Amino acid sequence: MPGVLDARDRSTALRTLAAGPLDVLVIGGGITGAGAALDAVSRGLRVGLVEARDLAAGTSSRSSKLIHGGLRYLEQRDFKLVREALRERDLLVTKLAPHLVKPVPFLYPLYRKVVERPYVGAGLVIYDAMEGTKRPVPYHRHLTARGALRRAPALRPERLAGAMVYYDAQVDDARHTLTVARTAVAHGATVVTRASATSLLRSADGTQVTGARVLDEETGRSFDVTASRVVVCAGVWSDLVYSRNGIQAGYEVRMSKGVHIVVPRTAIEAETGLILRTEKSVLFFIPWSDRWIVGTTDTDWSGDRAEPTATREDVDYILAAANRVLATPLTRTDVIGVYAGLRPLVAAAADTPTTKLSREHVVDVPLPGLASIAGGKFTTYRLMARDVIDAAVADLPRPVPDSVTDQLPLLGADGLPAVRAAAQRLAEDFQVPIAAVEHLLTRYGALAPEVLVPVRRDRSLARPLADGYPYLRAEVAYAVTHEAALHVEDVLARRIRLVIESPDAGVSVAPDVSAIMGALLGWSRRRRALEVRKYLAFAEAGAEALQSVAELPARAVSVPVPA
Ligand SMILES: Cc1cc2nc3c(=O)[nH]c(=O)nc-3n(C[C@H](O)[C@H](O)[C@H](O)COP(=O)(O)OP(=O)(O)OC[C@H]3O[C@@H](n4cnc5c(N)ncnc54)[C@H](O)[C@@H]3O)c2cc1C
Repeated sequence: MPGVLDARDRSTALRTLAAGPLDVLVIGGGITGAGAALDAVSRGLRVGLVEARDLAAGTSSRSSKLIHGGLRYLEQRDFKLVREALRERDLLVTKLAPHLVKPVPFLYPLYRKVVERPYVGAGLVIYDAMEGTKRPVPYHRHLTARGALRRAPALRPERLAGAMVYYDAQVDDARHTLTVARTAVAHGATVVTRASATSLLRSADGTQVTGARVLDEETGRSFDVTASRVVVCAGVWSDLVYSRNGIQAGYEVRMSKGVHIVVPRTAIEAETGLILRTEKSVLFFIPWSDRWIVGTTDTDWSGDRAEPTATREDVDYILAAANRVLATPLTRTDVIGVYAGLRPLVAAAADTPTTKLSREHVVDVPLPGLASIAGGKFTTYRLMARDVIDAAVADLPRPVPDSVTDQLPLLGADGLPAVRAAAQRLAEDFQVPIAAVEHLLTRYGALAPEVLVPVRRDRSLARPLADGYPYLRAEVAYAVTHEAALHVEDVLARRIRLVIESPDAGVSVAPDVSAIMGALLGWSRRRRALEVRKYLAFAEAGAEALQSVAELPARAVSVPVPA
């Protein structure tokens, strides 16, 4: 079946990679790598992708989850970036991923009427004008102070002079990345997770890159993948790929840490998202089902790339910035979850504050056969992918067609209106509540019925995974059979987002997840218990970051291991 990443077939995918030769081997399964694989395969090339951990395990599951033009880049006069990003946003909302990328209104409160309203208003006029007249989201609007308080009663009324409302879009970043990777697979790419490129292969005279040595992180076995072109999309790991292979990079990647907190929806009464100016940048309040994601910070980072941690200062900064405008201040006990991500910024001079660095991307071709890309933002991943593949294939002996991804809806987009219209019938056919079908539609689009198929033979899969959350047990099974989930962490951190949405990080359901996965993957009792223990260790590491913020509630990380 097209676009299936069945974890049970991983060894077949590994054999396909080893058999080679490929036209393009992509290193890295974040949004840039997944996009590059889709771009290359949809030009008729033979493509493989290796991801060292899980799809989106790096920055691409830890963003603000906005698909946006970037209002603040207007201030930096980065008009090209804003225009491109707005075009991409609209393409995703209307055509490529309407099931995943949803418009969201933001309210920008104004406190200095005379100075701010013309300034912000002019910015939003440009923002709207850049998008053009054919637009999937409404124009911005001016609000009085009373109008602002009607939409966001949580705001402190003192000094509030009015507000502007404008539209951007939001996405589940990890799910979007996975869907791009699956779409690449649907067009013929081979995608393997937990497979690291450990070194680059070279031609006998050492002048040309000819592939990569790949370590299967599950078995410890290594093998060679030969490819005419290797494309590095390794985000904040890019410089390691260069240095380990003795290659001089044309740019440096600088890591800038961004932290978000997650609080219950009830903690902030507002019917739109909020955006505030801060000293250094902006603070977003982003609606996330029945929660808010609030952030972010922007500080240099030189620690662990895989699991950057939030500090007490990060959380205090976000709370203080938020509380400047909230009538009822947020307290540390409101915080359900905290996550940190690393922006792969293309470095300028060493002493430049990271907030001033451009989010635009850089493509580098340091050696024949090798291309790499860094910088950019989630919103413009399709353009980044196009640019790095253009550079990689420029000197291939045979002509390669131009990128066509602007015409390729992602998996789950085709047929969406018909499946939406059939929601009631699907609920009856599969004997699940209509709310469950609606939930699946927002996550899998037209593929929602596929998630429900196993419910016919196992009714237990129709049950919710955790009380108070919309996720079904069937989604765990689907994560294994269609979404390449190999470990409990893959499911709880990225296929469904309990790691940030639940005060216990999903730890209490880890044994159930392990049991459902284990039944499909043939895990022994010992293996199931080990998987739960590994998830506890992962959640504890996150909990440590929370507990270092002294007054935050400790997460419950002690649960029974499955018998
Ligand atoms: C706090 C924060 C907020 C953000 N908010 C937004 C936003 O709202 N909107 C927006 O548009 N952008 C946003 N961004 C930017 C955006 O998230 C990133 O630009 C994007 O996710 C980077 O994707 P990537 O694929 O380049 O890197 P990554 O997602 O980090 O992917 C790189 C992958 O390469 C893998 N890898 C590394 N080395 C190897 C190897 N040797 N072999 C195999 N695999 C390897 C890693 O495991 C990793 O999965 C934000 C970023 C941050 C940090």
